[in-house]
Amino acid sequence: MKHITKTYAIDDLVVKWEPHKCIHSAICFHGLPSVFDPRKRPWVNVKGAPKNDIAEQVRKCPSGALSLQMNERA
Ligand code: SF4
Repeated sequence: MKHITKTYAIDDLVVKWEPHKCIHSAICFHGLPSVFDPRKRPWVNVKGAPKNDIAEQVRKCPSGALSLQMNERA
């Protein structure tokens, strides 16, 4: 089965989510519910909090399902 990867981008911050790695620990949406809300589509709202807060929360994902890609600014 092919694994999918979703990306959610704002400016130079790209949040990557790999659903097959997610263990549904709920850490992301308890920690930052204004960004991570599984009831919404898309479930990651990169406009919901300052970028630093999003990056910090992504780093707390225990499974590695959420990760960050920093885009270089031109
Ligand atoms: S913190 Fe990571 S493992 Fe937990 S629900 Fe969010 S994406 Fe899934």
